[in-house]
Amino acid sequence: MIKPPATLVRRTPWPAGTSRAVGTPLQPSVVYSSDSPDALDDLYEGRAPGYSYAREGHPNADVLATKIDGMEGATGGFIVGSGMAAVTAAMFGLLKAGDHVLGGNQLYGRSMRMMSNELPRMGIETSLADPSDAEAMAAAIRPNTRMILIEVVSNPTLRVADVAGIARVAKDAGALLVVDNTFTTPRGFRPFDHGADIVIHSVTKLLAGHSDVTLGYVAARDPDHNAAMRGTAVTLGLTPSPFDCWLAERGLYSFELRYDRAEENAARLADHLATLPGIRRVIYPTRPDHPDHNRAVSLLNGRGGCMVTFEIEGGRAQTNALVRAAENIAFAPTLGDIGTTLSHPATSSHRALTPERRAELGLGEGVFRVSVGVEPDDLLLAEFTAAVHASQSV
Ligand SMILES: *Cc1c(COP(=O)(O)O)cnc(C)c1O
Repeated sequence: MIKPPATLVRRTPWPAGTSRAVGTPLQPSVVYSSDSPDALDDLYEGRAPGYSYAREGHPNADVLATKIDGMEGATGGFIVGSGMAAVTAAMFGLLKAGDHVLGGNQLYGRSMRMMSNELPRMGIETSLADPSDAEAMAAAIRPNTRMILIEVVSNPTLRVADVAGIARVAKDAGALLVVDNTFTTPRGFRPFDHGADIVIHSVTKLLAGHSDVTLGYVAARDPDHNAAMRGTAVTLGLTPSPFDCWLAERGLYSFELRYDRAEENAARLADHLATLPGIRRVIYPTRPDHPDHNRAVSLLNGRGGCMVTFEIEGGRAQTNALVRAAENIAFAPTLGDIGTTLSHPATSSHRALTPERRAELGLGEGVFRVSVGVEPDDLLLAEFTAAVHASQSV
């Protein structure tokens, strides 16, 4: 029996019991009380486990981080409020004014802005090179290069980075290799097994998987780097919400099933699209006509991932018609949802580029990127067949 508190203002005791909840408890508390100043001393000095203030850390974040650590083969990774907060923690935690950061030239849009706007304002130099060409990356190294940031598979052209070559370049230059593993996920690729020093995730995407959470994860191989990034993240206030961590952890229970199913669907959809009239090209890493086919097969263990990019014949009338006809597939600038979503780089992720730069990247009006979900594959193929057909009938 719980005794009622003396006043409503006091906390109600939690019911005791000999059974345990099977589901992960959600702990939204911002503060934690201790038994004595001695106990608080022990907590702050790391002699006793526990929490003090949620911006510094909380159990739902740690439960989630531990799970992703397990997948990535990491220890001491931590959760922050978004994928961009993870990029911020790595860069502001490990760089100083005067350093140079070399980035892949097809990074996520906001990572690009970090390189073009935020870092230079803080006195950090940046430049970009093609990560599918390790020699181009090597040529871009400067005496003060401290960090290299790459994504394994680029969006939306699905070019595969020469991770082995870039890891050698980073090592020779004494620079930290940071891999944003959002697209590939540890199911497809484990960066720490390939020379990465830091791994970053937008947990928002495939890991959480249900488009209802914005979160990030970052982990370093070196515990000192973890401590530096964590300290900066706490100071900058990049803290995640306990509820978001709880939701993401819940999403992870089905992550491997979702990933494998979505990947099978993606491979099948890519091959099917390639047979349809009105399709100009299909990009999928394990298809023989992919420019990085051999690297994809060896680096990603023959697995192609959950993203498919394709280009239709025609212009805006045709792309509008395709999206309208695919009415049950969300047309939304994201990826990694449990259901299939469709995005149009020219009007969303790559709208800030000049038409010339888009053309250089092969991102004309007709290009779509599909983040493939776990629907029955026959349904997906039928919906895309109908949508492509409709696009060519206007
Ligand atoms: C979405 C994304 C990010 C940013 O993640 P948010 O959770 O939206 O802040 C970073 N990198 C890649 C590759 C992404 O797809």
